[in-house]
Amino acid sequence: MIYYKNGNYTVTIKPDGTKTRETNNPDDTVFLADFPETLDVKITDYCDMKCPYCHEKSTKDGEDCDPDFLIDTLSTLPRGIELAIGGGDPMAHNNLTWILEQLQQKGFICNMTLNAKHAYKYSQQLVNLLDYKMITGLGISLNDGENIFSHYSNSVAHVIVGIHDLYDIKKAMEDYGKVLILGYKNYGRGETYKGMNKAFAKALKQGLRGLMHMGIVSFDNLAIEQLGVRGILGEEKWSQFYMGDEGKHSMYFDAVKQEFARSSTSERVPCGDMTITEFFKEMQNEIS
Ligand code: SF4
Repeated sequence: MIYYKNGNYTVTIKPDGTKTRETNNPDDTVFLADFPETLDVKITDYCDMKCPYCHEKSTKDGEDCDPDFLIDTLSTLPRGIELAIGGGDPMAHNNLTWILEQLQQKGFICNMTLNAKHAYKYSQQLVNLLDYKMITGLGISLNDGENIFSHYSNSVAHVIVGIHDLYDIKKAMEDYGKVLILGYKNYGRGETYKGMNKAFAKALKQGLRGLMHMGIVSFDNLAIEQLGVRGILGEEKWSQFYMGDEGKHSMYFDAVKQEFARSSTSERVPCGDMTITEFFKEMQNEIS
């Protein structure tokens, strides 16, 4: 079990990954964070997949982040923070093992997001990283081929609104038992990609209830908006499960370009001399 205090509340993370927040003063009705609980961290721009909708515009010419800069920047945060490490292809970073060792020593919970084809390519290395608990969770972006990590209890299939069709999403749910639905990002190559399929998005919206009965479904804020999840869930369930507006407890850190942002599709600002906590507090002032 992990506990940490953040602003006016305490976060508890159970061994099964369930996270709860409780205000330190029972009279408080809102959670006011001093620092992000979760960070989306991009460690490399290198990727050989050429996905035409890639919002990070990653290519084979993409560079790795400076590992020292990455660790120094994250060092200001306390144990228990969750990192979603991605790219590009995060497994391709030349100093990945060293980076994960440093993050593990600092007590961060490191999850990795990667394409299913890369998970297959690096399967033995991934098994080692999982065995040594350098990675806790795997987010596997759905692709053709074998879902070799679907049996692993801390893996979740990532699908994108308008890219993956309902049939494939249901198949992923059968394999993984958990699906994270991400919104389609009109950003990077996604801004000009013409293949975003509105029929897929509509079918997913219509099939959402059925999918929820099959297993665990979670969403990013963009998917919540694009699929109208609040209306589908109803107010009671919404208030029970909604984890907060984008940027209230999370942020994005591009360690390659050395930029901070509210999310991967928000306006990015150079890190400069700012700490993550300074950026986060400034962002809270703008949001509220
Ligand atoms: S979407 Fe992911 S797998 Fe595809 S090019 Fe971008 S980083 Fe690579």
